[in-house]
Order: sequence, then structure tokens, then C-alpha cells
Amino acid sequence: ENTINHIAAGEVVERPKAVVKELIENAIDAGASAITVEIKEGGISFIRITDNGSGIAKEDIPLAFMRHATSKIKTAEDLFLVNSLGFRGEALSSIAAVSQVELITKQAASLNGYRYIIEGGEEKSLEEIGCPSGTTIIVRNLFYNTPARRKFLKSATTEAGYVNDLMERLILSHPGISFRFIVNNQVRLQSSGNNNVKDILYHIYGRDISKELLPVEFNSPDITIKGYIGKPTISRGNRNFENYFINGRYIKNHIITKAIEEAYKPFMMQHKYPFTSLYYEINPSLLDVNVHPQKMELKINNGEQVYQITYNLIKDSLSKKEL
Ligand code: ADP
Ligand code: MG
Repeated sequence: ENTINHIAAGEVVERPKAVVKELIENAIDAGASAITVEIKEGGISFIRITDNGSGIAKEDIPLAFMRHATSKIKTAEDLFLVNSLGFRGEALSSIAAVSQVELITKQAASLNGYRYIIEGGEEKSLEEIGCPSGTTIIVRNLFYNTPARRKFLKSATTEAGYVNDLMERLILSHPGISFRFIVNNQVRLQSSGNNNVKDILYHIYGRDISKELLPVEFNSPDITIKGYIGKPTISRGNRNFENYFINGRYIKNHIITKAIEEAYKPFMMQHKYPFTSLYYEINPSLLDVNVHPQKMELKINNGEQVYQITYNLIKDSLSKKEL
């Protein structure tokens, strides 16, 4: 029975990046406005996430590490409610099954906080301690008890690179949250949380890219788009820089991807992909979501319209400038 749990857990959290993603989503769900992420050895030996969110009440701590049976999300409306990044109710239990977890948490209204230790899914201790409000989760020695899963991990440098890519996207998708990303005791990424996307793009991609960006904006009652698109001169050999966010989430949708790429086509060499960082706000009633155990698929009901809006916005902006 334990083995089955461990294998299942390995599928939910297949590498440090997945652990970091789940823990940050929990911090965001808890209303954090500042989140610090630290990793050592690519996150394999050490991951620490500190947030200033709601904290967890003493009686809820062990429950948080139990798999809850039902999904919180049934409709697209649920998905885009503020407190709905977590939807499977199995992240903490899965992570704790395959690592050594230390949780330190305090609710603002509580006089003291708590430290909880759970290793390989086994509770070790729950004690009262003094600590600031919010939650810190430390995940040590990922897959220490499942050597077969550990073998699938790449080098520390490669794993750190995956976490770094994730952090860039998370920072871009939540410009209102202040993030700090620390690798082997050195600050790698930092954001102010003051909603300044241009500053974030500058920080992540540097001056050469940020001076080649055009601001774009579209407003209608059901759909708004804001953000930046790169001039064709900074096109790339892959889609890694073709980013867009729908209602605060980094989600792929083939209609939007197609609209972006078609709009760039007349301006771009073959086999090149644009740089974009676009923020969509779409009325959730126009969205449909399929939730699978591992991934989410977003469908836009009026895809035609979103395609045309995106295509025209980009094409007009690229045509206007002398490039
Ligand atoms: P889910 O996010 O799908 O509910 P998780 O296993 O990720 O499932 O988390 C379980 C529960 O633990 C959350 O629903 C939340 O109540 C609590 N929790 C986890 N992380 C935090 C955090 N950083 N701050 C406050 N509460 C948290
Ligand atoms: Mg969660």
C-alpha cells in the first residue's frame, strides 16, 4: 500500500520544479504578497518556500498532508476564483510521501506558530514555536526513499535550470506578487510586486530585449489584453519566449498560439518564433476547462473572436512601427 502511494506521488511530483510549482500555488492561494524560493543542489536536497500568507491553523496542519478525495474545481468559474490554484488536493501528501518535510506556520491572529515534521509520509512531530506570520515549507532529499524515481532526475544544474524557467514564468504571470529566487545562497531573480511588467521583462531578459518591445492593449467588456510583443528582430528559434497568461495563469491554448504566430508570419523568417508577454483577462463564462489528474486544458468558447482580436492587435502593432 505504501509503495503504491509512493509511486503515485512520484507521478504528481516528478522533479523539483513540480514541487516548487505546487508549493508556490499554495502560497498564492493563501493570499501571499511576498514569496521567497530557495533551492540547493537543483532542489534535490533542499527546497524552501517562505510566504506571508494566511498560515495554517494547528488542527488543520495534519489534514493538509492528507489526500482529499474531491476536486475543488468543477467549472471554469471555479478555476478562476482567487483561491483555486490548488485543485487536486494531493500536492502536500504526495510531496511528503517522497521527501522529508518541515512546515513552519503561523496565522496572524495566533500568538504562536507551529513546526510540523513529516518524513516519507510519517508524522514525526508537531510543536509550538515562535515565528512570523505565514508559512515556510522545507522539502529535503526528494525521492530519498524511492531510489528508482531519484534516478530519473537530471544533474543539479539541469534541475536548477528547470526551476529557474518556472520561476521566470511565475514572476511574469503574477506581477503583483513580490518574488525572490535564491539558488545556492545567491539571489537569482527578484521582483517588486508593484505590477510593473516592463521592469520584470527588463530584469529577466535584460536591456537588449526590453528595448525591442512594443506595448499592446485591447479592451472590450469580455476580453482585455495587455502586455508587450517583441519586434521581429528579436525572434527566436523556439517557442520558449512566446508567453501569454490567461486570467493570471500560464496556460497554453492552441488558438491563441496560432493567432500570435500567424500575425507575425509576414514579418518573420521561417522557423522563427516571436517574443511575447501578453496578459489576457477573459470572462470565465467564455471558458471551458477539462481537468485531468495531471494537466489542465483550456477551451475558449468563442475562439474565432479571440483569434481575430489577437491577430489584429499584433498585426496592427507590427505594421504601425517602422521596423
Ligand atoms: P490543494 O492546494 O489542492 O488544496 P495541497 O495538498 O496543495 O492541496 O494543500 C492542502 C491544503 O493545505 C490547502 O488546501 C491549504 O488549505 C493548506 N496549505 C498548503 N500550503 C499552504 C500555505 N502556504 N499557506 C496556507 N495554507 C496552505
Ligand atoms: Mg495545492
